[in-house]
Amino acid sequence: MTYDPGNIFAKILKGEIPCHKVYEDADTIAFMDVMPQAPGHTLVVPKAASRNLLDASPDALAKLLPVVQRIARAVKAAFQADGVTVSQFNEPAGGQTVFHLHVHVIPRHDGVGLKPHSGGMEKPEVLAAGAERIRAALAAA
Ligand code: AMP
Repeated sequence: MTYDPGNIFAKILKGEIPCHKVYEDADTIAFMDVMPQAPGHTLVVPKAASRNLLDASPDALAKLLPVVQRIARAVKAAFQADGVTVSQFNEPAGGQTVFHLHVHVIPRHDGVGLKPHSGGMEKPEVLAAGAERIRAALAAA
């Protein structure tokens, strides 16, 4: 399995297609999942090219997890969540559908289930409002 530089997250990283960005640094970007499993569902994406966890470099992984923690804290605050689900899928058999490494960060509320993975598209204005809330929580952290 090789990395395809034409995957949709590579295009987002190159600025070829838009996203609702909540965070960016030299190594990482985070943006709203367009088919959220719960309001505030965010994806944290390393800029380094790898298909998934299995072929990622230790350096890329070391830079990724602190950002996942920052985003998890921010989405929890922004959505007044009771908890946060962090997930990551590898290869089709593992549930992966976009083949550039990414981590799902999903705010959770007690007793509220997740919508299906890769379910319905959310309205752009809802995603934009969610991104604004998360950016504000990051700024306040
Ligand atoms: P995975 O199955 O872990 O590869 O998840 C890929 C995720 O990317 C799914 O949750 C999709 O809803 C999401 N997704 C697909 N295309 C886009 C896009 N253009 N912008 C943001 N999220 C996307």
